Amino acid sequence: MNTRVRVLNATYEDFDVIPAARAVVLLTEDLAITLVEHTPRFVVRSQHVAIPLPRTIQLLEYVHTPPRPVVDDDTRASFKIVLARDHHRCAYCGDAGATTVDHVYPRSRGGGDNYGNLVAACADCNGRKADRTPEEAGMPLLWVPRAPRTDHKRQHAIWRELTLSN
Ligand SMILES: [Zn+2]
Repeated sequence: MNTRVRVLNATYEDFDVIPAARAVVLLTEDLAITLVEHTPRFVVRSQHVAIPLPRTIQLLEYVHTPPRPVVDDDTRASFKIVLARDHHRCAYCGDAGATTVDHVYPRSRGGGDNYGNLVAACADCNGRKADRTPEEAGMPLLWVPRAPRTDHKRQHAIWRELTLSN
């Protein structure tokens, strides 16, 4: 059990490398899932569970580094997380596969890089909207952008596990 396990965040970004024992705890507490099993296969047995030793796990909830307990609409946003939050759907036409992030209230006019002002958008809609508000462009939003939802209890449980591992 001296093996170390790579931990990816919910958004697949590299997060940490932790001892296998800690990874197994995250798995048994349903805070993470196994992405890649260790080879050769080795099953970790405890009183209650038998889990194949992982090589890479993924946290089920996004965890901020360093821990940040409050994420609200005014929080400075990561474009990657905005795309993930909106499931890569364009907030203007609803098409899947949006790869750009649009400032609802244009950046050129003071719109912020925060979760309440950013939506996923396809390149076409983003280009068409340009430096206009949705109203001015006649392109109503299909949903109101909000900070990504976080379950603080689960986040704290994850932080506790990760802190214990260091
Ligand atoms: Zn679009």
